[in-house]
Amino acid sequence: MNHPLIYLPSVDNTNTWAKEHLDRFGALGAVYSTSQTAGRGRLGRTWVNAAGQALYYSCVVHEDLVQPETLPLLSCLVTAKVLHGLYGIDCRIKWPNDLLLDGKKIVGILCEGVPDKGAWILGIGINLAQPQSYFDAAGLPNGASLLTSGVPVCAERDADVLAAGLTEPGFSAVIPRFAREGIAPFLSDYRTHCVNLGRHVSYDGGEGTALDVDTDGRLVVCDDATGERRIFTGEVSVRGV
Ligand code: ATP
Repeated sequence: MNHPLIYLPSVDNTNTWAKEHLDRFGALGAVYSTSQTAGRGRLGRTWVNAAGQALYYSCVVHEDLVQPETLPLLSCLVTAKVLHGLYGIDCRIKWPNDLLLDGKKIVGILCEGVPDKGAWILGIGINLAQPQSYFDAAGLPNGASLLTSGVPVCAERDADVLAAGLTEPGFSAVIPRFAREGIAPFLSDYRTHCVNLGRHVSYDGGEGTALDVDTDGRLVVCDDATGERRIFTGEVSVRGV
């Protein structure tokens, strides 16, 4: 199927732009840019932007979803697989919504709902061509890009290729089933990619060992103080990988 893919030379924020232009997107349309000026993270955090050196991509889903809160998990999995297919790199997922390469963050994901329009926006930022000096200067010692990971990269070209691949086969191959069944059919794949399982994690309100991701997309933790606990996506930021 042909999904609309809109390129913008620069934009404040692709998620915001998508929200403001929902009528421009058909089924699984997407907008992308290599220059974003106002990146956002979860829980009011900032996503640091690099003019012309990264991909900022937002895909619009207009379907009824049985489990929208697990969209960040699905988005991580799709992005990891697209990156593997195109570049042969093995990103690990830091639950719920980050991708790490060699332990450093290369992708950030922010999924947002537009309830009155029945739409969901899957926002994905992928660091492409920033050198290590960029991350050092930005105070992001744990940031990584394709370039810092040794992948030959041309930001403009790779942004085009990645945006196309994220849409098709990427999200188009999984959204219909995800809409009906939620994250469960994708969980075993997610677990295989998840860096947290079996490791000690800390979170607001506690720390413990991450044991599993359940069918609601929650991180199952054996809390050092209180025993089993299930953490919702969006509830906390998990540290310690
Ligand atoms: P974390 O657990 O890494 O703090 P989070 O999932 O709680 O992340 P996000 O909204 O996903 O929060 O990401 C925002 C965080 O990511 C920022 O607080 C910063 O630490 C880091 N960050 C911001 N911009 C970049 C970037 N371009 N590359 C890598 N990391 C970044």
